[in-house]
Amino acid sequence: MKKNGLLYLMVAGIVLGIFSGWMFGSKMLVVEWIGEMFLDALKMLVVPLIISSMIVGIAGLGDIRKVGKTGLIALGYFMATTCIAVIIGLVMVNIIEPGVAVEMTVEQVPEKVAGKESVGVTDILKSFVSPNLVESMVNMDILPLIVFSLIFGGVLTTLGEPGKRAIDFFDTVNAAVMKIVHLLMYFAPIGVFALIASKLGAAGGGDLFLAELAKIGKYATTVISALLIHGLVVLPTVLYLTTRRNPATYFKNVTGALTTAFSTASSSATLPITIECAEENNRVSRKASLFVLPLGATVNMDGTALYESVAALFIAQMLGIELSFGEQMIVFLTATLAAVGAAGIPEAGLVTMVMVLQSVGLPLEGIGMLLSIDWFLDRCRTTVNVWGDSIGAAVVDTLEEKWVERGGEN
Ligand code: ASP
Repeated sequence: MKKNGLLYLMVAGIVLGIFSGWMFGSKMLVVEWIGEMFLDALKMLVVPLIISSMIVGIAGLGDIRKVGKTGLIALGYFMATTCIAVIIGLVMVNIIEPGVAVEMTVEQVPEKVAGKESVGVTDILKSFVSPNLVESMVNMDILPLIVFSLIFGGVLTTLGEPGKRAIDFFDTVNAAVMKIVHLLMYFAPIGVFALIASKLGAAGGGDLFLAELAKIGKYATTVISALLIHGLVVLPTVLYLTTRRNPATYFKNVTGALTTAFSTASSSATLPITIECAEENNRVSRKASLFVLPLGATVNMDGTALYESVAALFIAQMLGIELSFGEQMIVFLTATLAAVGAAGIPEAGLVTMVMVLQSVGLPLEGIGMLLSIDWFLDRCRTTVNVWGDSIGAAVVDTLEEKWVERGGEN
């Protein structure tokens, strides 16, 4: 099947999923197992893909100085776009003021975040390494796997011929996993349909969803419009200015990854398809996509950062607490960090939000007000997260090339 055909089918899968979940409500739970199977199949590929991608990616970049420069470009892109996202969130929440005149009806700290009060900056730093790599694989704890594979790949490049043989091995592993991803893509339209239909069905169908939305509709509107500004204006502009690529074509080519992100609410589970779309459809160089995308899926979360800043100010507004400019700057910093610390799994942003709220003394009970609609907003922000990663791969690819052209590798 042509790649365009598949992309259209995936969009049709989402639309049909929304329609069926909306109309038939909990009856759609009959297809839940299909969605779970698709999700598990994707997750099954994540660990071998991350390890082989990072090793091949780092080896493809060549010597260690070049790795450092590419790493710097990637980091610069991640930081800049995340900061812009948070600023958009803060501006929008200050203009729309979605929390004013909303009554805070939740009195308890939600179970999901209870006991997470002590999560702080040092915990985020600590999560870069793990005492047990196998356990990290079991828990899909990706950050330590990335760190290990990066170092491992870097060391392999220094070992001469035996190192090269090992790199070739991981290269083949990577190519094989990507072939499986390619096959899995044929099931993706049905998978995304089932995921969306059953999730919306479990949430009670269209009527209940609308009722929940109405309760904090202004808040949802703020989040979604800020995400749209970031996703449809800022990121495409960055793409165009740095690479001169056509943002509309680029967008069309990553539709597969974006629809998967929307239906799985997980950047990590979407990673196999994000890589496939970047390499196959958008022709981003293999070394750039293998290096940038696994990293991006774990640490670059524009949508999550934006969401956390809006949510924190929404809670403050609900409680009638006016946050000063200085306090909003603290929200800016902690939301950026919290997004780096959030894992690429569903609703991880809610947990790291504890850090943001605590930094300015807001009560964690406020998170309870966001829960009913978070499953939906999570999908929206995950889509922007994956879109940001996909653009990052092209930006790093082009800027790195330009650097080399100018002789900057010396
Ligand atoms: N679900 C998001 C992701 O995987 C993280 C979050 O909860 O914001 O990108």
